[in-house]
Amino acid sequence: MPFQLRSMLAAASLTAALLATSLHAQPTPLDPATKALSHAIFKQLIEINTTDSIGSVTTAAKAMRTRLLEAGLPAADLTLAGPNDRKQNLVARYRGAPGSKLQPILILCHLDVVEAPQAEWHTDPFKLVEKDGYFYGRGTQDMKDNDAILVTNFIRLKRQGFIPNRDLILALTADEEGGKSNGVDWLLKNRPELVKAEIVLNPDAGGIDANHGTPTVMVVEATEKLYGDFQLSVKNPGGHSSLPTKDNAIYHVADALSRLEHYTFPFELNPVSRAYFEKMATLEKGSVAADMRGILRTPPDPAAEARLSAVPRYNSVLRTTCVSTMFSAGQAPNALPQFAQSNVNCRILPGHTQEEIRQQLVKIANDAAITVQYKDDAGALFDKGTERVSPTPPALRLDVFGPLNKVVNALHPGLPILPQMEVGASDSVYTMALGIPSYGISGIAIDIDDLRMHGRDERLSIASYDEGVDFYYRFLQALTQ
Ligand SMILES: [Zn+2]
Repeated sequence: MPFQLRSMLAAASLTAALLATSLHAQPTPLDPATKALSHAIFKQLIEINTTDSIGSVTTAAKAMRTRLLEAGLPAADLTLAGPNDRKQNLVARYRGAPGSKLQPILILCHLDVVEAPQAEWHTDPFKLVEKDGYFYGRGTQDMKDNDAILVTNFIRLKRQGFIPNRDLILALTADEEGGKSNGVDWLLKNRPELVKAEIVLNPDAGGIDANHGTPTVMVVEATEKLYGDFQLSVKNPGGHSSLPTKDNAIYHVADALSRLEHYTFPFELNPVSRAYFEKMATLEKGSVAADMRGILRTPPDPAAEARLSAVPRYNSVLRTTCVSTMFSAGQAPNALPQFAQSNVNCRILPGHTQEEIRQQLVKIANDAAITVQYKDDAGALFDKGTERVSPTPPALRLDVFGPLNKVVNALHPGLPILPQMEVGASDSVYTMALGIPSYGISGIAIDIDDLRMHGRDERLSIASYDEGVDFYYRFLQALTQ
């Protein structure tokens, strides 16, 4: 998960945190055998270096395969597959009831971690260190915690003889954090039969936000905005600055940016943002709650929409946003500029393509001198945007949210569940692109002021880890009974 994504979750749930009364997690002690097993698997995974630079995802995938094999999953259902020796993914299929007509549930867990320079850490990042009630190590928050939790629960359920009503598929994958061999993308393109599913769960997104150890909200990621960079530019012959003309490259671009500043993309709700505001209206108070109910009405109340749009974090849920983030121009203090250009960064609502937004930017600029190009992740410029689109999400599935509500209520009575549209990107981007409903769900609670994924001294409270083990144990059964 990108660090920024989790930070945004924290910001969005601040209000909820302030409103939270005294929700305390129910004590859910794990039985000693489960605790020992889950801690041993966590330790094993943390201590296998899976960074892109010198680590091996394959070593971790093989270690988990051995454990699942020993628990009784047949070798034929434990497939190692990937593009090269260091990037083998493990796909583990836990068979459901024979003859079941239900399509599988796929769970995505990336095994790779970001780099962890030893010199910056107070402990060895590739040793699981227990200290002051915390587990320290690279991947304790992102996301070897949930890797270990899912493997533990597959083993535990298998040993107990649990038979789900459909196949459960666990994909332990490479290169979510970086590298050239994203495991989810690779599997969907090269071994689609292994990961074909009706529903995707991705514990790398979403999770429980806590405030000084008290859970305040469970965020479930249910759709994502699409990222897009565009370049507005003007080239000009220039000339001596003592002879200014109206045809000035800087003024062209500056005027277009001014028009962009005053342009508002259309207000638009989808099933996820609708569910988000329905829930937020119960967490907020007074006029803000009333405005949220106002935009949900048919037709929506324009005054309520305008007031909510003034709050950046709500505005970003209501519409596509585009903002100028970089500007460069001119070649000398005493010359008319031969060029001016600005990067415009857009976060595009589901259902709209990058090319559609590029064309809209052309209209907003409204100046034949300006070229609007799409810029890809590598910085290359194209005259057209791609047809990539984050598909409009389907309605939240009751067969997922029903069991989720039940389990969350048992573990954290009264904890609100907040469906969210994210601006960052997780591996769900690949399955969402295929139209498969994909939900970021995690039972791990992290304090909003203790977000350390990708940072130094990454840590997770041991109590939170144990609760996360218990959460997926209950949730997998509730989903498939
Ligand atoms: Zn992650």
